Amino acid sequence: ARRKIVAGNWKMNMTPSQAVELCNTLKDLVKSDDVDVVYCVPAIDIVPVVEAVKGTNVEVGAENMYFEEKGAYTGEISADMLLDAGVKYVIIGHSERRDYFKECDCLLNKKVKKALEKGLIPILCCGETLEQREMGVTMDWIRLQIKSDLADVTADQVKGMVIAYEPIWAIGTGKTATTEQAEEVCKGIRECIAEMYDTDTAEAVRIQYGGSVNAGNAAELFAQPDIDGGLVGGASLKADFGKIVNYK
Ligand code: 13P
Repeated sequence: ARRKIVAGNWKMNMTPSQAVELCNTLKDLVKSDDVDVVYCVPAIDIVPVVEAVKGTNVEVGAENMYFEEKGAYTGEISADMLLDAGVKYVIIGHSERRDYFKECDCLLNKKVKKALEKGLIPILCCGETLEQREMGVTMDWIRLQIKSDLADVTADQVKGMVIAYEPIWAIGTGKTATTEQAEEVCKGIRECIAEMYDTDTAEAVRIQYGGSVNAGNAAELFAQPDIDGGLVGGASLKADFGKIVNYK
């Protein structure tokens, strides 16, 4: 059985001192023996957060990284830098980065490959706009994203990855996808992986749902057969995150 993974995506919130404060607030609330817990934090918060969660079950993730090894890429952060700082996961292709920072699938594929080559666990995000959902092209679009972003990635690598399904219309809107909608797409992503690779790979990859996950809807979402946890934005910045981790 796949182990559930609940990750917070702090986005551009929390200064380093606020980040440490939040870790301390959450310390006793996010303990869980049967769920992997990850805080994906702004780059500048990584070092203090790694320190603040020492000795707990919490792992630290980055919200982005660059695919080049090192060199003249002003403002960017490499996989080696993340690893050396104690990072285990990295979000790749969040819809905010695709939209505001024009990150395309070709770039994201390079980032996924670099992260895997280095031993970071990518949390690869995908998801449709409201317009695409209304046009009935949701699954076609997501299959396209997955196939492009995973080009030249091996089955063994995919097995260790996390994919996050985040419908764009559900992000930060308080409008959660219904449990049926979320399960349908997560199942579709698993079928896509089975077609691209094999059923072993599809059964191993963990698929999260993200988009207005909160303490009230987590239990039902995470109980779905193809939803292996959540990627949580707003609610990861409060004590409620403890309830989401301990959703059962
Ligand atoms: P919200 O939980 O705030 O809707 O954000 C979801 C998200 O984008 C997580 O990556």
